[in-house]
Amino acid sequence: MTLAHETNVNVVLRKQGEIVLEERPVPTIRPDEVLLNIKVTGICGSDVHYWLHGGIGDFKLKAPMVLGHESAGIVVAVGDNVKHLQVGDRVAVEPGVSCRLCEECKTGHYNLCKDMKFAATPPIDGTLCNYYAHAADFCYKIPDNLSLEEAACIEPLSVAIHTANRSNIRSGDRVMVFGAGPVGLLCCAMAKAAGAGHVSIADISPSRLEFAKSYYTDSQIVLQRPEVGEPNIEYSRRTAKAILETEEMADVVIDATGAETCVQMSLMLAKNGGCVVLVGMGSAVQSLPVQELGAREVDIKGIFRYRNTYPRAVKMLSAGTIDVKPLITHSYPLKNAVDAFEHVKSGRDGAIKVLILG
Ligand SMILES: [Zn+2]
Ligand SMILES: [Zn+2]
Repeated sequence: MTLAHETNVNVVLRKQGEIVLEERPVPTIRPDEVLLNIKVTGICGSDVHYWLHGGIGDFKLKAPMVLGHESAGIVVAVGDNVKHLQVGDRVAVEPGVSCRLCEECKTGHYNLCKDMKFAATPPIDGTLCNYYAHAADFCYKIPDNLSLEEAACIEPLSVAIHTANRSNIRSGDRVMVFGAGPVGLLCCAMAKAAGAGHVSIADISPSRLEFAKSYYTDSQIVLQRPEVGEPNIEYSRRTAKAILETEEMADVVIDATGAETCVQMSLMLAKNGGCVVLVGMGSAVQSLPVQELGAREVDIKGIFRYRNTYPRAVKMLSAGTIDVKPLITHSYPLKNAVDAFEHVKSGRDGAIKVLILG
């Protein structure tokens, strides 16, 4: 086996607030694994959150951890049992490996596996490195007309596909999305791909909404922040009312912010019998106007990552059903990974998806 790099540089979150580059041995592979030369990794909000806050919910950083989980690369070695991949194949990496044996796995809900090992979720190391060993059945060969950059975007796109699946978007539906970050924008793209007739997007950032004008949305809603001291529910009521001056209620509302006010408005803006999907991660406990659920039969659904999305994402990107390329605004070489993280944190220069190239 000849390797393109002599070394294996890893982007390690040593502790909260401290990212360092560290050389580690090239991993050895088990019979069911492949060794990947990681070429592209997108920075996710969760990577930045671990860096700045040292944890997300119950997942706390207790030891140094390699960051990154939105990756694509080239197969450089295959384990003895691997039949469907060869050296040289370009693959999208599904970063969570489930046990394949439990009830959740056997019923196809493998994202809910209790033994899930997900890259860059403590204590599991992520993919931001030169060489990464991964279960071969969670690597998906991509066709020649897809770039590795696009393949890396399949991870956040998967969240949008799973969201569309859970919300049962139908042809002609009105869909409203809160949050114009990468996942919110991909939810708009996916809603259109699923046949939505009208997609609106709401955010507090005018520049994000300006971008959204040319990305799978029909209308853009600029949100103002609550007045000082204004209770969330009062802000949400008056803002939802203002939104309805120009928008109709939606069959499906997707919250990609996690903010309590946006979740409250999502419930208020769903049609009778409509569906709200909570994609964003915010405060663990929130105060919601539950009368919307009872009086109007609005369904509220949660999602946890995604399942069975990669093969479809590969097909959709290859067919041009969705274009993820406009979301890729910046890229950095692996050696400048810290600068890339600083860039995402600042949000400057219209950054949407920032990639690290290995
Ligand atoms: Zn992600
Ligand atoms: Zn399992």
